[in-house]
Amino acid sequence: MRREVDVRELQRLYGAEDMVRADCGGCAGCHSCCQGMGDSIGLDPWDVWNLCRGTGRSLEELINGGYAELGLDDGLVLPHLRMRRRQDGQEACGFLSEEGRCLVHPFRPGICRLFPLGRYYENGDFRYYLQMNQCPKPVKAKVRVRKWLEIEELERYEQFVRDWHSLLTRCRQGAGRCGEEARKKASLLLLRIFYLASYETEADFYGQFEARKQSAGSVLAGLFVE
Ligand code: SF4
Ligand code: SF4
Repeated sequence: MRREVDVRELQRLYGAEDMVRADCGGCAGCHSCCQGMGDSIGLDPWDVWNLCRGTGRSLEELINGGYAELGLDDGLVLPHLRMRRRQDGQEACGFLSEEGRCLVHPFRPGICRLFPLGRYYENGDFRYYLQMNQCPKPVKAKVRVRKWLEIEELERYEQFVRDWHSLLTRCRQGAGRCGEEARKKASLLLLRIFYLASYETEADFYGQFEARKQSAGSVLAGLFVE
C-alpha cells in the first residue's frame, strides 16, 4: 500500500529484532483492515507466489475468480487484492469469510502481515514504522517485528523487498521519462515476467525471482530509454 506518511509516524523506526506495540491479540472479531481498502493492497511477486501456493490457483485464475485485479499504480500496471460487495453491503476482500476470518491466513500478502506496521523506504533500504490511526484496536501488546510478520527466512524476504522496490522505482522513473507507447510496453513486460509467467510454487521463490530479475533488468532498462 502506498500512502502519505505522517512525519510523527517516523519518529521511531524499527528493524526485525525490535519490539513494537503492534500486536492486536488475534484481532478478536475485528476485520476492519480487510474491508473498504479499495485498490490499496498491492501484490508483489512473493505475494503472488505465496497465494498461488496456498490456493492452488494461478494469478489469472485469482483474477477471473474475483480475488485480485490489475490496476494502474503510479504509471505501472500491477495486481492488487480485489474488494467485493458482501451481503451486508460492505466492500471486502474476497478471501474474507462470512465469519470475518482470513481464508488464506498462512498465505496472506505482505501488506496484510505488516498491518498496522508499514515500510518506510530510504536510500535503497527500508525500516518498519507503526501507522497511526489505522487500526481501531485501542490497546496493543508489544511484539517482536520478526514474530509479527511470521515470514520464514525473513532476511531473504527483506532482501527481496529491497530489490523489488528498487526495480519498481527505476521502472517508475523510466516510465515518467519515456513516451506513452514505451511505458505501456515496459509495463506489460514487467507484468508478464514477474507475475503472469507462473512460478514453481513448490520451489524456492527467491531463486526464481533472482533469475527473472537478471533476465528482465537490461530489457526493461532498454525499453524505458527512448
Ligand atoms: S484493523 Fe487491527 S484489530 Fe482489526 S483486523 Fe486489522 S489489525 Fe486486526
Ligand atoms: S488476504 Fe486475508 S488478511 Fe489480507 S485483506 Fe484479505 S482477508 Fe484480510
